[in-house]
Amino acid sequence: YENEFKRLSSLDLIGQMAAGISHEIRNPMATVRGFLQLLKMDNDFGRHDHYLEIMIEELDRANSIITEFLSIGNTKTSDMKMMDLNTIIFDMTPLMKVDAVTQNKMIEVETEEVPELLLNHNEIRQLIMNIYRNGLEAMEEGKTLWVRTYKEKDSVVLAIQDQGMGISSEVMEKLGTPFFTTKDNGTGLGLGICYAIAARHNAKIEIETGKEGTTFFIKFQMVQRHDGSGHNSE
Ligand code: ADP
Ligand code: MG
Repeated sequence: YENEFKRLSSLDLIGQMAAGISHEIRNPMATVRGFLQLLKMDNDFGRHDHYLEIMIEELDRANSIITEFLSIGNTKTSDMKMMDLNTIIFDMTPLMKVDAVTQNKMIEVETEEVPELLLNHNEIRQLIMNIYRNGLEAMEEGKTLWVRTYKEKDSVVLAIQDQGMGISSEVMEKLGTPFFTTKDNGTGLGLGICYAIAARHNAKIEIETGKEGTTFFIKFQMVQRHDGSGHNSE
């Protein structure tokens, strides 16, 4: 419980730092974007239009990732709406596959029909991204990562399973602590964000890990109809 508490209070700190850092990152990005657009206008025969468009698109994507990351601190409940978790996953599948293929790894998506949930689209995207990227980073070439959805009792489960090296108990203890990373170029922010997003969705994160790899289970409570039966009981 002490560890839970530490996680929560340090998330405020992340929010404050992220706001400051993002400002510093966005300014140079805006400059680069501006010059790319100038290049596009001064581009003989439109030869490089395609490349320039991709560069601008990717900058915009990076920018929106920062936005999503920052919104963690002040998301309104109005950003939540009833939606199908699988839609978000299908949406992300091409991006995930590109990430995997460029690292010589594979991603398999296996979905089951699941009831709609009250979700914040951007946040769930962020959560999935942070977890599958960790999975890919933990795996050697030729390995596979699975993204699955299924029903289990009163829950809709999102399971992300990798064939990585597993997580030691020492590392396990510190998961979600801001800036904790075992990577040379890690931020140590990914899982802290995931815990915050899961908490906001009343979802639980469970982890199974061993020599064969690691599975993150994100368990969302099914939304109950207002039929007079009141809240979910465990
Ligand atoms: P980062 O990825 O920047 O290091 P994270 O918060 O995403 O930060 O993860 C923190 C640490 O948790 C990682 O540095 C790694 O040691 C460990 N970790 C997270 N996911 C996995 C995984 N799927 N397999 C092995 N280790 C993991
Ligand atoms: Mg990470």
